[in-house]
Amino acid sequence: IDWTEGRGWHSATLGPRQPLSLDPATAVLHYAQEIFEGMKAYKLDDGTMALFRPEQNARRFNASADRLAMPHLPEEAFVEAVRQLVLADKDWFPTVEGGSLYLRPFMFASEAFLGVRPAKQYKFLVIASPAGNYFKSGVPAVSIWVSGDYTRAAPGGTGAAKCGGNYAASLVPQANATARGHDQVVFLDAVERKWVEELGGMNLFFAFDDGSLITPPLTGTILPGITRESLLQLAREEGLQVREERYSIDQWRADAESGRLLETFACGTAAVVTPVGRVAGHDGEFTIGSGGAGQVTTRLRERLVAIQRGIAEDKHGWVMRLD
Ligand code: PMP
Repeated sequence: IDWTEGRGWHSATLGPRQPLSLDPATAVLHYAQEIFEGMKAYKLDDGTMALFRPEQNARRFNASADRLAMPHLPEEAFVEAVRQLVLADKDWFPTVEGGSLYLRPFMFASEAFLGVRPAKQYKFLVIASPAGNYFKSGVPAVSIWVSGDYTRAAPGGTGAAKCGGNYAASLVPQANATARGHDQVVFLDAVERKWVEELGGMNLFFAFDDGSLITPPLTGTILPGITRESLLQLAREEGLQVREERYSIDQWRADAESGRLLETFACGTAAVVTPVGRVAGHDGEFTIGSGGAGQVTTRLRERLVAIQRGIAEDKHGWVMRLD
């Protein structure tokens, strides 16, 4: 779908994937006015294709658009575009156990000009790609590296927006984590360099021996994850004492070593819920709990996956069936 100033959204098309042809002066190539979403379509037991809380992706997309001076796409148009693509791609749905169709809605400045101002033309597209089960078997714990050199987002920056530039800036810290033998990078806040924020593509939760569960608050520097928000609700229903609260790297280590912290897990659309087993940084390493998936992690993961797959009752109305 195209957007032109003075005209709004127009020229929606659905068709096979094909290359885009862009003028070398296309604004996105120079000033990175680009935002995206990541979502999955699941096949329910009765064969119906379904989306998980797509209106939340639409809402976050428009919040990202606001931050990058881009036009809103009405929520209904966003969801309808995704719905039509999924139905058109039904036959590409992976047949493997736990498979899904990964969906990537995105929008970029398509006007050709050189100059720093919001573009007057945009393109919104959605691509679909079959995805196998994120983990081949079970849910292995990941080991993460605390980036001491780099932060992901500064106050007043674009941390709460899902824009490509945020991910460009996280490539070096992620590569550093991988080079040291860890799976993921974890970022601290940019001001005090002590508050734990999130991973490169997942939010974090901490579960304690007194039944409390905390996750860093949405202060504008972390992405408001839809999995995070869903788990907050499920955890409250499970009777956990849930708090959105800042948690420091020193406290994390102290609590892991004293045994007060039982579990840490990361969450996001791609992997749903993943236990964090080991944490390393420039001043050493520590293990969390047994180093594997604990009870809270396992229970919340199972509950969320069961809702997404249409196995458990969907009392929040999170699953949108596509007929
Ligand atoms: N943080 C970042 C930086 C991410 O890229 C993602 C993935 N979208 C998340 C958190 C998790 O968000 P969600 O649960 O909506 O996938």
